[in-house]
Amino acid sequence: MSHTSAVARASSPAPPSGSHRFSSVINQIAEEMNTLDDHGTPADYIPMLADADPRRFGMAVAEPDGTVYGVGDWRQPFSTQSISKVFALALALSLDGGQLWQGVGREPSGNPFNSLVQLEYENGIPRNPFINAGALVVTDRLQVLTGDAAGQVRDLLRTESGNAAIDFVPQVAASEAAYGDRNAALAHFMASYGNITLPVPALLAAYFRQCSIEASCADLALAAGFLARGGVRADGAALLSRSQAKQVNAVMLTCGTYDAAGEFAYRVGLPGKSGVGGGIIAIVPGVCTLCVWSPGLDKRGNSVAGVSALDRFTTLTGLSVF
Ligand code: GLN
Repeated sequence: MSHTSAVARASSPAPPSGSHRFSSVINQIAEEMNTLDDHGTPADYIPMLADADPRRFGMAVAEPDGTVYGVGDWRQPFSTQSISKVFALALALSLDGGQLWQGVGREPSGNPFNSLVQLEYENGIPRNPFINAGALVVTDRLQVLTGDAAGQVRDLLRTESGNAAIDFVPQVAASEAAYGDRNAALAHFMASYGNITLPVPALLAAYFRQCSIEASCADLALAAGFLARGGVRADGAALLSRSQAKQVNAVMLTCGTYDAAGEFAYRVGLPGKSGVGGGIIAIVPGVCTLCVWSPGLDKRGNSVAGVSALDRFTTLTGLSVF
């Protein structure tokens, strides 16, 4: 039985359910995910996320023309968390070009996303923009450039997805702030090296707001479309140059799933970015963007069913960057 449903963002009528290029593949994957033995455990260090049901699963595909379709809970908003870091990075690069790379590197860290250890012997310069320390640097720069980093990320998600209802969830931001000692430690430590411009409390507030944005698989698959279109936004304007889009995809491939990035590249073979809300976006350049959501995580903070579903997608379709 086919579960796929679809919407077309433009005014053109949606084709009948199940008729899209990858409909039958994602229906098959959703059925397979139902039978997984272990769905992992929702993030417990952010209390607002801890109650999610690890068996929930959604998957959406967005094609470069803005058609989006999906299966399961693909329209269910969830906490984007670290997926928001891709959009913050794209905005910072679009506004500030290569300047950003003076304060953050582009190498995999091989360490957990919230690790402190590398920062001291690398003089307060985080390895990459997707571990928390690096994302704090990006949000710091974006806040200085725009005055409202989190608002800019939310607005980019809104325009690219066509969903004006995408917004912050203040309770999630507050819950993260209440358990935010580690992020505060990272920010203070980098500030001691002069690698943070804002007062640390203001930076943390912007970062937690950015991470608290809720969006669905459909929204995020559409919003990441510029990375499958060589930097071109939904309305045809350039957000990034083709070369910058390649750079963001490369950093996603090598760093987007933290200390599991090697395994993710091995299994999935696509640029991807996970968040502890259980979402993962993945890019098939020129072909489509994918977003999966299932709140049960593995030990490295990546969705168990999410990684597995993307693994199956590239295996069944033969599509990957390799
Ligand atoms: N907001 C989370 C944190 O800072 C994001 C981490 C993640 O999604 N990996 O801990």
